[in-house]
This record gives sequence, structure tokens and C-alpha cells, in this order.
Amino acid sequence: MTTPSRSPLQTASCRSPQSAKRPRILIIYTGGTIGMIENAETRALEPFNFDHLIENVPKIKLLDIDIESVEFSNPIDSSSMNPIHWQSIAKVIEDNYDSFDGFVVLHGTDTMAYTSSALSFMLENLRKPVIITGSQLPIGDVRTDGEENLITALQVASARDGEGMPMIKEVAILFEDFLWRGNRATKHSSDNFCAFSSNNFPALASFGLGIHFNREVLRHPRPGGELKVHYNFDTNVMVVDLFPGIQENVVRHMFETPGIRGIVLKTFGAGNGPTDPWFISLLQEATARGIVIVNISQCVNGSVMPGLYSAGLFISQAGVISGRDLTAEASITKLMHLLGSNHSHERIVELMNRSLCGEMTTD
Ligand code: ASP
Repeated sequence: MTTPSRSPLQTASCRSPQSAKRPRILIIYTGGTIGMIENAETRALEPFNFDHLIENVPKIKLLDIDIESVEFSNPIDSSSMNPIHWQSIAKVIEDNYDSFDGFVVLHGTDTMAYTSSALSFMLENLRKPVIITGSQLPIGDVRTDGEENLITALQVASARDGEGMPMIKEVAILFEDFLWRGNRATKHSSDNFCAFSSNNFPALASFGLGIHFNREVLRHPRPGGELKVHYNFDTNVMVVDLFPGIQENVVRHMFETPGIRGIVLKTFGAGNGPTDPWFISLLQEATARGIVIVNISQCVNGSVMPGLYSAGLFISQAGVISGRDLTAEASITKLMHLLGSNHSHERIVELMNRSLCGEMTTD
């Protein structure tokens, strides 16, 4: 996959009278429930356009913010999201980086944590907020959570510190009462308004009567360095979820998939798997063929600890990398991102072991 030449996004504007001092925020509308309306025939929710969304949030005009927008020409249910869409979002951010103080991406919740993880790896040296939000109920619904999420996202994207610099300098997911690091968040509920959590990292901010930033955990990119966007992904990857009774022929078939270059292995507890000789051999053969295998836990909280049990030690001895406390979303997107680079195998292994942008606890 290479740099997109033509973006499937089109521009629109909901701009209020401009003032030099007001923050300038670009909304990037990709689709998702927040902008959906019900199909009269099927009664199923379908993505709809940005004007409809904004018409339902008249309060937006009361904000002391200059807002412009771009939208996907065909807004999508985020279940159809893929790396080409990530490239389009990143391209808009790159093209508009100097003209705006921050970015709000409106996105479906289903794959939001994949997009936020992917963007965090794509946007090296990011120094401005990229706040991703959406909603569980459409913006036209009387009980919608979308209005509050959108307004708070615009406020967080506009927030500055005492030196006038953006308070948030990373990709984050804003949902209901919290702001989460984008590559640490996971959708945990298809019903609750509080749909996201970050099980191994604290919230960047919480929302009550005020917006409370957790300054100690905010990212501070190293000084210097221009925004550098990494567009390439290699999608020759898979997730293999272990379960008691998993068969040799099944695992062999998956590991020997033609063209496969990377595997996220979801193991039990602190990173353990079956000690059957066939399983150990399949892991050894796969890593010897140059397949990058990353071990993450099926537990949503805690970290892989390869040496804690012999049932985990043999996995690392077979050349499998510990994904420590990576989320499933961050591990698969990090793998696609690194495999899509021009790095050598050794360098990919080295970078997989490092935290690139706060996605993993390494000490
Ligand atoms: N299926 C929707 C989507 O991910 C769900 C949502 O937005 O909440 O686009």
C-alpha cells in the first residue's frame, strides 16, 4: 500500500466568523452511528451526510472556535474501515496540519480503537490533538450521546496549556466521561454510553462539570522534528486466538497461509499456551521462516510475562516477541505498520519490542 494520490474525502464548511485568537479545528467526518439515520424500508441505520449531523447540533455555533470540515464522499459504517481509509484521514491531517490547531475525527465506534491505534503509528512527531469520537445513538435521536461527545471533543481539541501550546499532542479517543490514549483504548460495550476503556493505562482526561486533564500521563513529543506521516501498511497479518482443544491441523493451516508475514498470538493469562510438542514446533518453524509473531494476552488487563510459567517460557524461546500489555488493536496495527515499512526483519523485531508512541509499558 502506498501514499494515496486521491482522497475519498470532500470539503464542506460550517465556519463561523474568524478571529485570529480563536482556535481553528478541522472536523473529519468518516461516518458511524453519530451521523446515521434509519432506512425507512429496512429500519436499519445507515450512514448519512455531514450537514444532517451538524444541523442536529446547533449549539456548535455557540463555541468560541472556528470550525471547518471535510467528509468522506461516502460516509461508512466503521465495520468497513481499512488502511486505505486510514491513509485518507492521515493525508487530510498532513495537508491541513499547519492551518489548524487540532483535528476531530468523527468515526463509528466498532473499529474506532483500530483507527486510533493506526493513526498513532502513522503520525510521527505529532504535536497537535487528533481527537476521535462518535456515539452509540444517532445524533438525531432525542437521547443521543453524540452531541455531548462532539462538543467536548471540540473543546478538548482547542484546549491549550499555560504556554499556549496544545494540551493534547497525540491521538486520543473521547467517549462519554473520558479521554483515552488512542493506542490504549478498546471498545468494551455495544450498549453502554461509556463504550470504551483503557485497561492498562489511565485516562488522559475526565469530564464532569469541568474538563480535568491528567497532566502526568499526557504525551510530550521530543523537541524538534516535523510531522512525518507513514502511509504504508502490510495487511498480510492475522490474529490467532488460542482455546483449549485447538487442533494441530488448524494451527498449521493458519501459520502456513501463503504470504503471511505477521501473527498476533492471543494466549492465556500471562502469555501461556499449550506445551504440546506440535505447537512448539509450529511456532519454531514459523519464526524460522521469518514470520513475526507477537504474544498478547486474552486478558484485557495485565501484561504478558514470558518467564513466569514454563507454559509461557517456551513461546518466547521459540522466537515469539512479547507484546507485553498491548491491546489487540494496537498490536495488529503496529505489526501492519512495521511490516509495511522498509525495515529489516531485525529492526522490526527491535521496534516491536519498543514503545513507539506510548502504546506499551516497557519498564
Ligand atoms: N456500526 C457502527 C460503526 O461502527 C457503530 C457505531 O458507530 O457506534 O460505524
